[in-house]
Amino acid sequence: APARPSTRTEDLRTEALAVLDRLGAAVPSALPDGPSLAACTPLTGEELFRVAAASPGDVDEAVGAAAAAFVRWRSVPAPVRGATVKRFGELLSEHKADLASLVTLEAGKITSEALGEVQEMVDICDLAVGLSRQVGGRTMPSERPGHRLMETWHPLGVVGVVSAFNFPVAVWAWNTAVALVCGDPVVWKPSELTPLTALACSALLGRALAETGAPADVHRLVLGARDVGAALVADPRVALVSATGSTRMGAEVGPVVAARFGRTLLELGGNNAAVVAPSADLDLAVRGIVFSAVGTAGQRCTSMRRLLVHADVADELVGRLAAAYARLPVGDPRAEGTLVGPLVRASSAEAMQRALARAVEDGGEVVAGGEPVTVDGAEGAAYVSPALVRMPSQTEVVREETFAPVLYVMTWTDLDEAVEVHNAVPQGLSSSIFTSDVREAERFLSEAGSDCGIVNVNIGTSGAEIGGAFGGEKATGGGRESGSDAWRAYMRRATNTVNYSDELPLAQGVDFG
Ligand code: NAD
Repeated sequence: APARPSTRTEDLRTEALAVLDRLGAAVPSALPDGPSLAACTPLTGEELFRVAAASPGDVDEAVGAAAAAFVRWRSVPAPVRGATVKRFGELLSEHKADLASLVTLEAGKITSEALGEVQEMVDICDLAVGLSRQVGGRTMPSERPGHRLMETWHPLGVVGVVSAFNFPVAVWAWNTAVALVCGDPVVWKPSELTPLTALACSALLGRALAETGAPADVHRLVLGARDVGAALVADPRVALVSATGSTRMGAEVGPVVAARFGRTLLELGGNNAAVVAPSADLDLAVRGIVFSAVGTAGQRCTSMRRLLVHADVADELVGRLAAAYARLPVGDPRAEGTLVGPLVRASSAEAMQRALARAVEDGGEVVAGGEPVTVDGAEGAAYVSPALVRMPSQTEVVREETFAPVLYVMTWTDLDEAVEVHNAVPQGLSSSIFTSDVREAERFLSEAGSDCGIVNVNIGTSGAEIGGAFGGEKATGGGRESGSDAWRAYMRRATNTVNYSDELPLAQGVDFG
């Protein structure tokens, strides 16, 4: 058997320092003066380092520097800005394994998912490089002779990115790669739970900027907790706030930015469901459901949290899922074969237990998992076995997002009713239907079907590709990031009417003397 990775705090520290050093990041040394932040690891629940955090004054300075860099960066031709992002993507590919190991260390992802997250960064760089030769507007026919009507897209200004712990590197990269080719500098406030990955990303982008002669201040990092995020969000020089996290956070951030007429791009909580029809390929459904429900230990915004199964296949499907859950390898995410790593912190496991207790009070039955799991050498960590819970109906606890691996199962007999229950939650991020009936699939995809931003057929709710626009409706916030035309959020549009005649006809036939 392969050697078990060490969980000794000293070994984890040494390994982290070596990785940070290879990535060119400033290594945390002695306790910094002034505000600081704990860098902990969910592998053991222990603190590894303290790193210097930003003060509100530092946020002010960072935004000022980014605003000054904007004046230069906006006039650099977009394909030249693309060359910087291209270099960044190359550095990410080169350092993929190291960066992924930090994602595992700080967010607790299994190695394959951590590598996947870094791959997503490389992919968005590729997409952004292509965009750098494509962002542009349309030309429309003018109703006036000798006139041209067109739109021009210009860089917007400083983008403030606030990100969540569960995608500590990819979400920032989605925003940054696209913002940079659009001509916008970025000031990043990462999750307070993942400062080391942020330092590493920052170092790699800093290298790409230096090597390609881009202004260093088109990227600034401000580490800290909510107060640092709040200072960034409130700054009137931040033209767009792209914030990823809980719906609670979005409800705080949205009004602050709206009050100063800034723009927001909100990517908030999800409560994602799959509908399973009697014609579904159950082998495929089991695999798709298990990946979405227990991948990243249920800590993805797109994690599957609700399963709506036709009554005719419910017992069989639940039985197969329970068998799969019983075999799930829970443990050190670095160990070969592990599929379920730790929750990010003890409070997540407590929230899971509270949710399970409420579900049982509501008449639910826990058919698999839902227990704490002890991992040798990691007694302070929050490992759990993913829970599968049969519910008599969609009670209040099912309508909430509990950020842990809990899958609530409910049954239906009429597809319209299933869709109604599906949509009867505050969130609207991701959804899927498992069916072999094209009519059922199309109904689910139609205007009368799922009300989510992501609607899939015969795959789970998680694991989106970067080519499509990512985001959701309702309490998920309405923002779209990543592919398709999501770049428009990072630019401003000007409509131009050009008269190349020597007459001055007015629109709508207005006669003005
Ligand atoms: P969180 O809301 O606790 O924190 C997210 C970020 O917001 C952190 O950087 C935090 O410091 C900052 N923040 C919190 N309050 C703030 C305020 N008032 N002003 C400014 N900044 C503030 O979320 P989390 O626990 O890190 O992440 C899990 C949540 O994120 C889940 O709800 C999950 O669904 C959601 N999420 C959504 C998406 C998406 O794309 N829709 C992606 C990943 C995570």
